[in-house]
Amino acid sequence: ITIFVPRESGADEPRVAASPDSVKKLTGLGCSVLVERGAGEMSRISDEEYDKAGAKIAAASDIRKADVVLCVRRPDSRLSQIKKGAAILAIMDPFEADKELAAMAKAGVSAFAMELMPRITRAQVMDVLSSQANLAGYQAVIDAAHLYDRALPMMMTAAGTVPAAKAFVMGAGVAGLQAIATARRLGAAVTATDVRAAAGEQVQSLGAKFIMTDALKDASGEGGYARELTAEERKAQSELVASHIAKQDIVITTALIPGRPAPKLVTTAMIESMRPGAVIIDLAVERGGNVEGAKPDEVVTIGGVRVAGYLNMPGKIAASASLLYAKNLLAFLETMIDKEAGKLSIDRDDELVKATLLTHDGAIVHDRFGGSAP
Ligand code: NAD
Repeated sequence: ITIFVPRESGADEPRVAASPDSVKKLTGLGCSVLVERGAGEMSRISDEEYDKAGAKIAAASDIRKADVVLCVRRPDSRLSQIKKGAAILAIMDPFEADKELAAMAKAGVSAFAMELMPRITRAQVMDVLSSQANLAGYQAVIDAAHLYDRALPMMMTAAGTVPAAKAFVMGAGVAGLQAIATARRLGAAVTATDVRAAAGEQVQSLGAKFIMTDALKDASGEGGYARELTAEERKAQSELVASHIAKQDIVITTALIPGRPAPKLVTTAMIESMRPGAVIIDLAVERGGNVEGAKPDEVVTIGGVRVAGYLNMPGKIAASASLLYAKNLLAFLETMIDKEAGKLSIDRDDELVKATLLTHDGAIVHDRFGGSAP
């Protein structure tokens, strides 16, 4: 099995889909691994390190030889070079990408969307959403601290007392929980909210206060994710947030609903109720944003409050993110490598394959994207 690891798109995507560790493991399984020259550069992995781990440093055009292409992002621009029947593992961003899915089907590749991996125990090690969201939650607090022009921890000094910053985390999933933990470590007084009742305990176990309206019992949806709120629930949540947010210094929003635009949680009026110098980091900006007025890749100032819509937060700590991502891909790929036969075997009955396989044998096969599972 020949595996190719491309160099991604540079500043937009500094991560890479293989690490020296994952290369070593894959060559040990009998695979030949080709890593495009410079692929790990922005993740601080040199060609020499890949070479030492057993990879061959390859030219971009060697992607033609691949039976498996390991990517961070969907490799649209290189699809025509990938041979028919090859497998591609990537964060495929398949929602509202009909054209791109059709192109992958037409190219005859087996495209696996890593972000659709089910949240079951067996697949925990393959969970790219968790590995990357965890880092994004951490980075959000670091960025907030950087933008915030006051100290986060309470400091009692001879010259007076600096009060602790108040941080509010909206959405206490994987990213939110790490944001809570990081803000606590930096000494902020942390509160958090979510629409899933189960999140309450997790928030409290991190030493933060859970804020939730009585009107909302539990909006857990399928697979441990949240469902969309009804109009009434939204109103109750909004009233609660409005009164709480006015007193906050740092707000980090992480709320997502699978396959839907991000719910709008923070209105312009709410932002204007906050004091100048406050900071909001909207981690959901790629999916439309939780915060009114947040712009992708920009820091906008609304009534003296800075609202940051940074993109690709895991990419800001690419060296850590790539190592975890590479491990996620390796764990999934391993389940499909038939060492004896020296080929990839895709078991269409496997629940992990069913959940992630978008295109196969010239067709879209995923039922959520218009395909029909056999
Ligand atoms: P996510 O990224 O889809 O959403 C982030 C958070 O936003 C979620 O906690 C969600 O409940 C919350 N949210 C959605 N709408 C909201 C609203 N209107 N207001 C406030 N918050 C809102 O979720 P995620 O971080 O990927 O994780 C979701 C769940 O899956 C969590 O319970 C997590 O612990 C669980 N999980 C389980 C496994 C596993 O068992 N293998 C792995 C990872 C995560």
